[in-house]
Amino acid sequence: MSTFFLEVVTPEKVLYGSDANMIVVKGVEGELGILPNHIPMVSPLKIAPVRIKKGNTEEVLAVHGGFMEVRKDKVVILAESAEYPGDIDLERARAAKERAEKYLAKRDEFDYRRAELALQRALTRLEVAGRK
Ligand code: ATP
Repeated sequence: MSTFFLEVVTPEKVLYGSDANMIVVKGVEGELGILPNHIPMVSPLKIAPVRIKKGNTEEVLAVHGGFMEVRKDKVVILAESAEYPGDIDLERARAAKERAEKYLAKRDEFDYRRAELALQRALTRLEVAGRK
């Protein structure tokens, strides 16, 4: 099965660098499945899990927005932050979820979008860590 090289980079580090057969990301217009030899493109990403398929295995990363660049020879995801499931602190994600929900309940216009994004990050972390 053919592969392409996938790199996931955050401002802090190169989180992931390995061959993949397929990835599934959430672009602004919905889910995108990327296979080898996909046409070059750049797409903004939503805050969502990224699924990486290689052979019979599937890995998942929590990817909190950013961009995906599909090049001829590789795919680069530049994320504002991203984590492996095992690195996610569930208590911290739960606390962030509660905090965001409180802000959203207040319906304070200034903080609304910020709280929505924080909630989305927390939900993505909880989903990827496997316990919603
Ligand atoms: P919090 O409000 O808990 O800080 P946040 O969504 O605002 O969450 P980010 O700004 O997305 O946090 O991330 C800041 C840094 O903290 C990044 O390196 C990110 O990977 C890490 N991080 C945030 N939340 C968690 C978590 N629950 N488990 C592990 N790492 C986390």
